[in-house]
Amino acid sequence: MNYISTRGQVEPKGFIDTVLMGLGEDGGLMVPEQIPAVSAETLDRWKTLPFRELFIEIFSLYANDEIPQEDLKQLVDASYATFRDPEVTPVRKLNDSLYILELFHGPTFAFKDVALQFMGEFYSYVSKTRGEIIHILGATSGDTGAAAIQGVRGKEGIKICILHPHGKVSKVQELQMTTVNDENVLNLSVHGNFDDCQRIIKELFSDLEFKSKHHLRAINSINFVRILAQTVYYFYAYFQAEKQMGDDSKKINVSVPSGNFGNIFSGFLAKKMGLPINKLIIATNENNILERFVTTGEYQPGEFRKTHSPSMDIQVASNFERYLYYLLDEDAFEVSKYMQQLADGRKIVVEGELLQRVQSELHALGATNEQNLQLIGKYRSETGYLLDPHTACGVAASEAFTEEGEVTVSFATAHPAKFDEAIRLLDITQEFPVEIAELIAKDQYQTVIDNDKAEVTRQLEAFFAGGKVSQA
Ligand SMILES: *Cc1c(COP(=O)(O)O)cnc(C)c1O
Repeated sequence: MNYISTRGQVEPKGFIDTVLMGLGEDGGLMVPEQIPAVSAETLDRWKTLPFRELFIEIFSLYANDEIPQEDLKQLVDASYATFRDPEVTPVRKLNDSLYILELFHGPTFAFKDVALQFMGEFYSYVSKTRGEIIHILGATSGDTGAAAIQGVRGKEGIKICILHPHGKVSKVQELQMTTVNDENVLNLSVHGNFDDCQRIIKELFSDLEFKSKHHLRAINSINFVRILAQTVYYFYAYFQAEKQMGDDSKKINVSVPSGNFGNIFSGFLAKKMGLPINKLIIATNENNILERFVTTGEYQPGEFRKTHSPSMDIQVASNFERYLYYLLDEDAFEVSKYMQQLADGRKIVVEGELLQRVQSELHALGATNEQNLQLIGKYRSETGYLLDPHTACGVAASEAFTEEGEVTVSFATAHPAKFDEAIRLLDITQEFPVEIAELIAKDQYQTVIDNDKAEVTRQLEAFFAGGKVSQA
């Protein structure tokens, strides 16, 4: 299987090269030339597989034979050995129409671990087998950086540098990143906001000479390997829900707390492969560009809102282009036109039949801050289950769209302990998992710098050459 760009200007590439490339060289996103179809017999066989085996089956459909089965098995085992639940991503029943897929049992207590634990192993493998130098550079508003650092720390052949906005990530997120003191990890804490960090990274990546000289690799959610790893738990969740229901008369929806459209795109892919998901529900917070798109057909960044679910405080959903590509019947020329409009500061508009198609494929709801807290309180008192604020957005959308004869598997994308700032507003005192409680006493290692690209460049050059400039 080869991979091509949504903008049509990249020569077809194999799987490993696609992952190493990250963003397409033409600015587009990489997609498989053909989405593999899974037959009803195969689905039936997959129903009883544990998470790890299911991962190998799905991955093998996409990775050609670039990774031998035995190696792949080792990669998968190592990736998910760090998860605290033997099922990796267990499903819990809250009531007759609502199930929760818990995606927070990895090292940083958020769903990004599922893909980034694998990505760390994968990059390390590629470094060993191909002799590639891997220097990961990324910016984070909190969860991605923490998960990427945990995925890569201590691994041979890889270094990682993450920029985060100084003092502007949650306390737990900050500790998860900065208490790591491995030689191959550099935390740059930038006096600025997330957009400043992101802008510096973008400029460094677009300097192709700098990029190739320093072997820069990306970890953002546009990387196809992240999408693929996430696809696995859609299948797993569907099968577990079916099993727990005990009958297959009800249709199964999924509701996904969304920001960059990465997680929900994995669901779209799973459905296209043949998993009979009924409704794909996009849950957002007050930053509701995706909800507005599904209801009106207009895709246009709005005003930034700070919410209780900061990992979804996103104005432009970077994986949206992949959905657009399939909506436009894989016409890369059309996709390029639409994306150029957006780059020119205009909005994307779909109308008529196209909009109808969007509305038949996707449902979307944005929960307000107030609804969000209310739901957390309600579920806590009715079921005893504590939702984190991201997960609560998913549950709000589940409640809105689950009809008679349907059940919804709503994704828990973070553990509530990670976002205690919001939980405390409800006067709920939660007990912290030991892994999080222990962080508080640990030393922090980060280099605090000005919002200045030249300073970041200096830090990177020293780090890649062999050492860190200073860690305080
Ligand atoms: C990143 C994140 C999201 C959003 O996921 P996307 O793939 O960007 O849509 C939702 N919840 C949590 C807790 C996250 O960390």
